[in-house]
Amino acid sequence: MGPPGTGKTLLAKAVAGEANVPFFSLAGSDFVEMFVGVGASRVRGLFADAQKNAPCIIFIDEIDAIGKSRDTRYGGGNDEREQTLNQLLSEMDGFDSAKGILILAATNRPEILDKALLRPGRFDRRVIVEKPDLKGREDTLKVHSKNVKLDETVDLKEIALATSGAVGSDLANMVNEAAINAVKNKRELVSQKDLFDAVEVVLMGKEKKDRIMSKQERKIVSYHEIGHALIMALQKNSEPVQKITIIPRTMGALGYVMQIPEEEKYLKSEAELRDELVSFLGGRAAEEIVFDTVTTGASNDIERATGIARRMVTMYGMSKKIGLVALETIESEYLDRTSRLICSEAKEAEIDAEVQRMLKDSYKKAKKLLKENRELMDKLAAHLLEKETITGKEFMKIFREYYGEDYKKSSDPADDDDSDDSDDSGNNGKSSGSDGSSSGSSGSSGIFDLRENSDHTDSDDDGSSGSSGSSGSLGSSDSSDSSGSSDDGDSSDSSEDSGEKKKSNFEVIV
Ligand code: ZN
Repeated sequence: MGPPGTGKTLLAKAVAGEANVPFFSLAGSDFVEMFVGVGASRVRGLFADAQKNAPCIIFIDEIDAIGKSRDTRYGGGNDEREQTLNQLLSEMDGFDSAKGILILAATNRPEILDKALLRPGRFDRRVIVEKPDLKGREDTLKVHSKNVKLDETVDLKEIALATSGAVGSDLANMVNEAAINAVKNKRELVSQKDLFDAVEVVLMGKEKKDRIMSKQERKIVSYHEIGHALIMALQKNSEPVQKITIIPRTMGALGYVMQIPEEEKYLKSEAELRDELVSFLGGRAAEEIVFDTVTTGASNDIERATGIARRMVTMYGMSKKIGLVALETIESEYLDRTSRLICSEAKEAEIDAEVQRMLKDSYKKAKKLLKENRELMDKLAAHLLEKETITGKEFMKIFREYYGEDYKKSSDPADDDDSDDSDDSGNNGKSSGSDGSSSGSSGSSGIFDLRENSDHTDSDDDGSSGSSGSSGSLGSSDSSDSSGSSDDGDSSDSSEDSGEKKKSNFEVIV
C-alpha cells in the first residue's frame, strides 16, 4: 500500500520476475460488472487457473475496487461487489496452502478495505511503499537517467532536494522533459539547468512567453512575488529563495517564488508554520501597500494559508486558545488526505474564529514587515520587473547590499498566535520565546518549493483556476500538518511531509 505513483505495481512485477513463476495480474475493477455474479465467477476462474499453474503469484491491483468495506459508510452495500468479495474471501481460505500460491494486492486506500480481507491468513502482511526520501529520489533519478547523456554540471542530489514529495513517476517524467528540452535546443547532453527547468515544467507547466500582460499587471505581479520573497528572507524560519519569476506558465501561474530547502526535513515546528503563514500572505500585503488595492491573484495563497492555520488549530494543537485536542481526522492517508471534523458545531465556530484570528495576525505582520522595508521592496520589484526572472542569489545580493552582510533575521516574530494580542508591534514581543524554542529546526520543510500564490484573475483563462486546484492535489498540504504530529519521525511522516512540501512551496500567481 502506498500513495499513487510510488511503484506498487512495479514492485509486484519485480517480485514475479525474481520468483520466476507464472504471474496472474488483474485489476480490481476487472471483477466488477453490472451483472450480479459475474465478478464472483471471475474470482473462481482466476483461482482455478492459479491452482492449475501452481506455484504461481496472483496480483490484484487496486484491490479497493472489490475489497471495499461492506460497511455502508464507505459506500458498501453493493450486491455485486459484495458477492465478489465473499467469493474472494472464501477462495483465499479454501485453496491448498501446500500448492504454493502467493496472493499480492495493491491499494492506495487501505483504510476502506474490508476487515475480513486483512485478517491473518488473508492479506496479513503489508508492505508500505512510501514516497521516496532524498536518497530514494536521488537513486530513482539515477535509474531514470541511465540512458540519458548528462553533462558535467548535473548534480542529481540537488535535483532530489528540490523535488521533495515527488514520486517515482514524477521523477521519470522530469528526466524525460529535461531530455526533450536538450534535444529541442540541439544539444547532445542534458545539463543541470535542463533538469531544473523540467522540474518547473512538471510542477507549473511550460512558460507562456506569448502572453501579453499590461504593464500595470506585470508590476502588480512583481510586487506580489517580491512580497512573498522578501518576507521569506526577513523571517528566520523560512527556506532560502531559489528563484523568482513573473513569466506566466501554462498551468495558470502568473509568477512564482521557488524555495529550495537546505535539507530534507520530517518535522515542522510551530514557528516555521507561523512564518509560512506570513509568507503566504506577503503577496497580498505587498499589493495592498503599494497599490492600495487588492487583486484576485492571492486566492490560492489565502486558501493555502487557511489550510495551514486550520490544521494548526484542529490537528497539531498549536493554538493556545483551543488547546491540545484533535478536532479533525484524516480520512484517506495516501490519496488526497481529506479530513473530517470530529467535533461539535459549537466548536466548529470556535475553530473558524481562531483560524481567522491567526490569519489576521499573520497578515498584519506581513504588512508590517513590508512597510518597514518599503525601499528595499521597491528596489527588488523594479529589478524583477526588468529581468522577469531572478535567482535567489541575485535576490540576496540586493538584499545584502541594502542590509549589509551581517543582517540578522528578525527573531521576533509576531506570530505567536497563542497570545491573543494579535500583532506584536514590538519586535521584542513575547513571541520571541516561541521562536527561540523552535529555532533549532529552522527552515520550513517546503520541498517543492514553488510557493503557489495562484492568484487568478477571473479574466484569465480557466486553466489558471484549474491549475491551482491541481497543484493542491499534487501534495496534500495537509502533509505538513502531519509533520507536526510526527513525533515518531518515521517514514510515514516523511511521506506526508513531502506531500505537503510539494504543495506548499509552490507559489503560483495566476
Ligand atoms: Zn502569492
